[in-house]
Amino acid sequence: MTETDLQSSVARNLEAVRARMARAADASGRDPASVRLVAVSKTFGIDAVEAALAAGQRDFGENRVQEALPKIEALGSADIIWHLIGHLQSNKVRRASRPFDCIHSIDSVDLLLKVDAAAAETHRRPELLVQVDLAGEATKHGLGHDEVRQVFEASPRLKAGRLVGLMLIPPYLDDPEAVRPYFRRLRELRDTLAAEGVSQDCLRELSMGMSHDFHVAIAEGATMIRVGTAIFGRRTPPA
Ligand SMILES: *Cc1c(COP(=O)(O)O)cnc(C)c1O
Repeated sequence: MTETDLQSSVARNLEAVRARMARAADASGRDPASVRLVAVSKTFGIDAVEAALAAGQRDFGENRVQEALPKIEALGSADIIWHLIGHLQSNKVRRASRPFDCIHSIDSVDLLLKVDAAAAETHRRPELLVQVDLAGEATKHGLGHDEVRQVFEASPRLKAGRLVGLMLIPPYLDDPEAVRPYFRRLRELRDTLAAEGVSQDCLRELSMGMSHDFHVAIAEGATMIRVGTAIFGRRTPPA
C-alpha cells in the first residue's frame, strides 16, 4: 500500500467505526462521548499509527511491551495516549511504567504494587484496570471475583497509580451475540463490587469489546473499546 492509500483506508475505517459506535450508543440511550475508542496498533507500523493520528485518533493500544517501545519512542512528540492491553510480566514493569498512560492488564496485587512503585519513581500517574476472567479459563490471564476484590482493597496503598475499572477478554466467539453474556457479567461484577463498597472512582471504566463485537459491548456498558482489525485491517501473522 502506498502512504496515501494507507491514509485513506485508515481514515475511512475510523469513520465507519465511529459511526458504528454512535449507532450502538444511540440504540442503548448512551452518550456516544461516554465510550473511548482505543485503536489497537499491535503488529502494525508507525505509518499506520500516523495515518490514524492524522484522522484524529489519540488513544492507541499495544499488547507487547517490547514491540510497543520502539513505536512509542519513534512517535515521541505526538500527542498520544498509550494503552497496554496485553499481559505484563513483572520483569517488564519498569520499562512499561514510563510510556504507558493506561494499563488494562493488572492481574495480581503483586503486579499492582510493582507497577505503582515504578510509576512513583518515574513520576507518572497511570490509569490501571483489573483484568477479569469470567470464563475460568486457566490458561488465560485474569482474576475471579474474590481476587478482583483483593486488588481493589489494595487501592489505598497506591502512591501513584489510579485504579479506574475492569477489563475483559472474553473467549473468541464468531457470533457477537454469544459474547453478550460475558459483557453483561462484567457490568454486573462492577455493580457487585460497588455494592461491596469499592469506590465509584475505581469502577468508572469497563474495557470490553473488539472489532466484531464492540457494538454489543457498548450496549452492555463498555466505556473503552479496543479495536484493531476494523481500523487497520487484518494482521499477518495474527497476534
Ligand atoms: C488484538 C487485541 C484487540 C483487538 O482485536 P481486533 O479483533 O483486531 O479488534 C483487543 N484487545 C486485546 C487485548 C487484543 O490483544
